[in-house]
Amino acid sequence: MSLNKRAIVTGGTRGIGRAIVKELAARSCCGVLFSDVAFIYNSCDECAEEIQQEINDPGTKIFAFKADASSFEEAEETVSKAIEKLGGVDILVNNAGITRDNLMLRMTPEDFDTVLNINLRSVFNYTKAVMKHMIKQRYGRIVNIASVVGLIGNPGQANYAASKAGIIGFTKSVARELATRNITVNAIAPGFIETEMTEKLTDQQREILLRNIPMQRFGKPEDVAKVVGFLCSKDADYITGQVINVDGGMVMS
Ligand code: NAP
Repeated sequence: MSLNKRAIVTGGTRGIGRAIVKELAARSCCGVLFSDVAFIYNSCDECAEEIQQEINDPGTKIFAFKADASSFEEAEETVSKAIEKLGGVDILVNNAGITRDNLMLRMTPEDFDTVLNINLRSVFNYTKAVMKHMIKQRYGRIVNIASVVGLIGNPGQANYAASKAGIIGFTKSVARELATRNITVNAIAPGFIETEMTEKLTDQQREILLRNIPMQRFGKPEDVAKVVGFLCSKDADYITGQVINVDGGMVMS
């Protein structure tokens, strides 16, 4: 296994994914993580260039791949190209996700399928594409970005909540399948994080949400990225099949 970890992150151009790419690429003081990163994005070419410039560390290799994460064929092709560039893969972060909110009465079958395909099918696609490599090297860290909505539901988000609940079931099943191969599979369930995805909310919706957050603030993308970094570090070697909420105390079980 190489000294430098090699990571693939889906949806790496904006919000939480961008913070994850930066977190994994950051050279830590104590040698916990030294990652070269390939990230996948779908539309924002300028964002992809920006992030590569922002990292700009001669010791870290960053590669960007444009692909639709919901396509199985594109995932296979992209992972294979990423592995060629990185020299292998140790870490996969399934982060790409979208919303198409509407109450069930108005939700169209297309909105349901699109959200399920991008949020859940993509997790299947990329996990399937990397796992054979991880099994062969007997090492892998897979982190799936779910949501607290997948645990408690949310009116207007039946499609999104179903996709995130699906990610949680998927995470636990694959964690059980891969545990003996030294591959851990965990999920993070963010609460309300300040990104473009949540910019659409009205002031009234924000106020209501804040009332339900004991820590009285929304999260930052870095709050989630730090937990990804931890789950990919040596300190988390004995953690698998877990869902870690990063939500300021919004959901307590
Ligand atoms: P965001 O700011 O909207 O960013 C979404 C990212 O996903 C972008 O980089 C986007 O790339 C990429 N993406 C979208 N569709 C894609 C596709 N078909 N193929 C490949 N990449 C695609 O979202 P975010 O708030 O950072 O959310 C990131 C993840 O966290 C999502 O899974 C989301 O469900 C989850 N989450 C977010 C929150 C929150 O409060 N923000 C809470 C819980 C969970 P392009 O820019 O190129 O389109």
